[in-house]
Amino acid sequence: MGRHAIITGGSSGIGRHLVTAFVAAGYDVAFTHFREEAGAAETIAEAAAAGGRARAFDSDVGEEAAVARLMDEAAEWFGDAPDVLVNNAGIQTWSPLLELTQARWDAVLRTNLTGCFLNTREAAKRMVSAGKRGAIVNIGSGCNKLAFPGLVDYTASKGGVEQFTKVAAVELGPHGIRVNCVAPGAIETERTKAEAPDYAETWGRVTPLRRVGTPADIAGPVLFLAGANAGFVTGQTIWVDGGVFTQA
Ligand code: NDP
Repeated sequence: MGRHAIITGGSSGIGRHLVTAFVAAGYDVAFTHFREEAGAAETIAEAAAAGGRARAFDSDVGEEAAVARLMDEAAEWFGDAPDVLVNNAGIQTWSPLLELTQARWDAVLRTNLTGCFLNTREAAKRMVSAGKRGAIVNIGSGCNKLAFPGLVDYTASKGGVEQFTKVAAVELGPHGIRVNCVAPGAIETERTKAEAPDYAETWGRVTPLRRVGTPADIAGPVLFLAGANAGFVTGQTIWVDGGVFTQA
């Protein structure tokens, strides 16, 4: 019997690489996109080149009805409940606290934290009903270890994701469902490159491993946490940052 994974935010960046890595590892992958039809098509093409099955679903992670619909449609496509959920979708912009609007705050919390809650609840319900010992991996952020000015909304949301991971792990553990978090450091994606063309050089200079991270650096630990080799690991956060947020 094949394994089935749902990955939110698969139309670009880290999410796109997660889709192809899971497909290459033998999973059928249902991934979501929100605004980026073209990005979703590119992800499907990359997944096909990796030799597997991936399908895009248009789903806003912060909308309760849309999440329930996604879970039902994905289960229908799989012919089964999911084995794995990766809560990857997220947004981030910079704004000083004194200029941060409530609209921006709400959008960031809704996507990064409420999205993680809704998708986890709906996926876990279906795993429990099907008697599956599933795995959920949340994408947090290395920025939680520090206090970056201009990221108060994002840092609050990702701090929430890390704490959510612990409580969800304790509550879902008796059902055999593991919940963990991967907290990336500086990862070069289309988004981060667009924000700062010298992103790789800047972060490579200050990172102990002397390079910026790539989406592939994130996919390995996520696959590990999703799989049987991590069968006794739950409630944990793995920092995947080349040591940049560990150093004093
Ligand atoms: P991208 O901006 O490249 O990708 C974000 C993804 O989230 C897109 O697929 C986007 O879909 C999706 N998304 C955004 N809003 C929604 C929504 N409301 N509903 C559903 N999907 C949505 O970001 P990255 O790949 O850089 O980041 C991926 C994750 O990793 C995020 O959670 C981010 O916070 C985290 N992270 C990234 C780091 C980095 O250095 N890159 C560092 C630390 C953490 P669409 O484009 O279709 O709207």
